[in-house]
Amino acid sequence: TGIYTSKHPSLHLPTDPNLDAVSALFSHIHTIHDPASSASAAAFVDSSTGFTIAYAELQITVRSIAAGIHHDLGLRQGDVVSLVLPNSLYFPLLLLSLISLGAVVTTINPSSTLGEIKKQVSECNVSVAFTSRESVEKLASLGVTVIRVPESFDLDSIRIENYPKFYSIVRGGFGSVPKPLVKQDDVAAIMYSSGTTGASKGVMLTHRNLIASMELFVRFEASQYEYPGSRNVYLAALPLCHIYGLSLFVMGLLSVGSTVVVMRRFDVSDAVDAIGKFKITHFPVVPPMLMALTKKARGVCGDEAFRSLKQVSSGAAPLSRKFIEDFLGALPHVDLIQGYGMTESTAVGTRGFNSQKVRKYSSVGLLAPNTQARVVDWSSGSFLPPGNRGELWLQGPGVMKGYLNNPEATEMTIIEKSWLRTGDIAYFDEDGYLFIVDRMKEIIKYKGFQIAPADLEAVLVSHPLIIDAAVTAAPNEECGEIPVAFVVRRQETTLTEQDVINYVAAQVAPYRKVRKVVMVSSIPKSPTGKILRKELKRILTNCVSSR
Ligand code: AMP
Repeated sequence: TGIYTSKHPSLHLPTDPNLDAVSALFSHIHTIHDPASSASAAAFVDSSTGFTIAYAELQITVRSIAAGIHHDLGLRQGDVVSLVLPNSLYFPLLLLSLISLGAVVTTINPSSTLGEIKKQVSECNVSVAFTSRESVEKLASLGVTVIRVPESFDLDSIRIENYPKFYSIVRGGFGSVPKPLVKQDDVAAIMYSSGTTGASKGVMLTHRNLIASMELFVRFEASQYEYPGSRNVYLAALPLCHIYGLSLFVMGLLSVGSTVVVMRRFDVSDAVDAIGKFKITHFPVVPPMLMALTKKARGVCGDEAFRSLKQVSSGAAPLSRKFIEDFLGALPHVDLIQGYGMTESTAVGTRGFNSQKVRKYSSVGLLAPNTQARVVDWSSGSFLPPGNRGELWLQGPGVMKGYLNNPEATEMTIIEKSWLRTGDIAYFDEDGYLFIVDRMKEIIKYKGFQIAPADLEAVLVSHPLIIDAAVTAAPNEECGEIPVAFVVRRQETTLTEQDVINYVAAQVAPYRKVRKVVMVSSIPKSPTGKILRKELKRILTNCVSSR
């Protein structure tokens, strides 16, 4: 009782215990792509050069790169390999090759600093890293085998002088490799998230999780469109290093035969150009991207440039009513949906669905197939009926195996062995549509990226002139939220707000910077020493209103 179930028919997930995620993906691709009709269909396209990988050559390319990696790096099953790469066509090829070998992939945002990379490399015991120019030295200083990946994509023109190790892997022609015995329950990826509390942690996702996320996506797609997924052209401007991009652009969309046009990074003018040039039909975004797109549509280029676009989907952070209204006003012919998920659920959660009759733009949609939810009253622990707000718990095949080397955090997050505490405050309406209304967990979402306050607090208190510190979020129209630091400095120091901002900026990736500092005489804490985060928010509101 008190359990919400999916409105979508449930589906049979593959039961073979010895199935790896890449074989599961290719078996889908083979069923969609009958070689006679659509062998030349593009799987991936580079948005800046137009370079294409066709479905027909995808598996051969992945196999050949996997053989090169196996031959040159001698990886053993279970070895952890890091991808510290911006978006490019290399990203999906390396990811699929590594996972097919039974290696565990951990992604690191390429804008990360040495300190951030070091933490993840040592926690995950990374032995090899694929990276681009900007991170080569950082990784080499950590004693990891570094493979430098070229900036622009063209497998045929890679020069051995410039990229000797990479050249050998992709051009070596090593044939095929013996297939490792990968089990569905083996870990395939370790993605980073702080969950409901504390520092960021490695989220262990298994082959089974990735397979489920892919299969559920296939079912979602089938229920949404009258036209086949293989005619859809998606613009991939979201980072592939995040689970949202990885599960959608690599696993989900390939399994329905869509074309994925990969952008190195989001830039609104380039995105609009790409929409026109590649006749993009679907564009997954985070809220700040939606706002930028709306502005552009209202401005010089008008509606015409967006003619091919059918649907924009937003996720990773709350979408305000104003953003929704502005978007619908500017691009009335484009459908807008939201999706909801988290790293710990392999991005599985809900997905919006608009029909002639129902249009609930501020809802994150209906539960994914095979997924259940509870809405829990945090004071009594009871399970709440539709219309009532409480903490959202999820159960289903997307739920992670656990946090890496952290059984305590796993136990706090996965309740009764299977229910994932999301830390989000939500309610279902009578029709089964989910609405996310607030967040009780600590994370800050800056432009859809997660920031763990505990990570920034650790950096702050490492400053010799800072006695104590706490970090919370302040709302921000453009970015969603920005991190604000409360700092207790040593008496008689001249440490300024700007000094604190600069100190943190030197040690974290640009998106994680502290953007505002408030000097205080003490940090509000409970008798047990826990930071009272609600109190911080109250102080912040007072600061703003007293101006
Ligand atoms: P991550 O693990 O980085 O994907 O972050 C997951 C969290 O992002 C969720 O627990 C929510 O707090 C937030 N989130 C994701 N999608 C949405 C959405 N559509 N609306 C509001 N918050 C969202």
